[in-house]
Amino acid sequence: MISKQNLGKFRRSLHGWFRKNGRDLPWRRNRDPYAVLVSEVMLQQTTVAAVIPFFERWMKAFPDVWSLAVADEEQVLKQWEGLGYYSRARNLLRVAKSIVADNGGVIPDQVPELLLLPGIGPYTASAIAAFAFDQPAAVLDANIIRVVARLFDFRKSVTDANGKRFIEQSARSLLPGKGGNLHSSALMELGALVCKSGKPECVSCPVRGFCMAVSPEKIPFKAPRKMAVHERDLRVFAFANGRVSLVRSVGPRWKGLWLLPSATREGKMLIGFPYIVTRHRIRMEIFRARPRAGWQTFDPAHLPPMPTPHRRALAILVERE
Ligand code: SF4
Repeated sequence: MISKQNLGKFRRSLHGWFRKNGRDLPWRRNRDPYAVLVSEVMLQQTTVAAVIPFFERWMKAFPDVWSLAVADEEQVLKQWEGLGYYSRARNLLRVAKSIVADNGGVIPDQVPELLLLPGIGPYTASAIAAFAFDQPAAVLDANIIRVVARLFDFRKSVTDANGKRFIEQSARSLLPGKGGNLHSSALMELGALVCKSGKPECVSCPVRGFCMAVSPEKIPFKAPRKMAVHERDLRVFAFANGRVSLVRSVGPRWKGLWLLPSATREGKMLIGFPYIVTRHRIRMEIFRARPRAGWQTFDPAHLPPMPTPHRRALAILVERE
């Protein structure tokens, strides 16, 4: 542990570095709790660079919790189109409806109340409390977990219950009494820019004098990944009179989005390509078919929300017609 007398020095070094080196990200420009909520949900499983254009587009379409709460699911999925993990978009819609219906449109500022909102887990609740309300909440994203594990030279798995408890307690021990936004932003940025995954840049680290890691490139330890699952996804391209047939997914994958219809038999393949969903390695193969009753047809220039593999496949096939 870092001694109490060194904690002040640690925080001053970290915070001073962040003030000079922190990136100007759209969601850092103000501390609007709604913008923080949207950005934190988008940043789950997606990189900062990929999120920025989606965040800016989303905030134009739904600038506040009120405008999101009255949107329908299809509009919301259309704005999310291309970002993946669509349950995040549906959760955001549920959260907005709940905040407007049960809390007068006000996002709570305390972690226990935030946790009562549908789809808000411990990470998002802490992030909103810290970034929007400046609370000293331990925000444990992948960057902060890595930095904390290295600072304390934690050489065990960070994904099991003991590891999670150690990281949380250690992160809490670093928290200042106030100024949670600056502190968590700085720790997160250190993980993104200096204490990177793989080989960290210790020579330019502002807190290297406090770091106990002996072989930081080997930390954090993680449980081995689950084996990949290989699948085939057989679909049809039914195109007539300038319109393409699609079906709405009832889930669980891509619930609410529109897909090329499933193939019931294989014929001459038009195109085939791989895509990945979590640990599923999927090969999509597309065959020609005639439109059928029950399938809905769309003008390719005005498509409903579709997941990326289906939208890409359709773009190639329509181009070839
Ligand atoms: Fe990470 Fe190296 Fe800094 Fe330790 S000294 S916190 S391992 S960058």
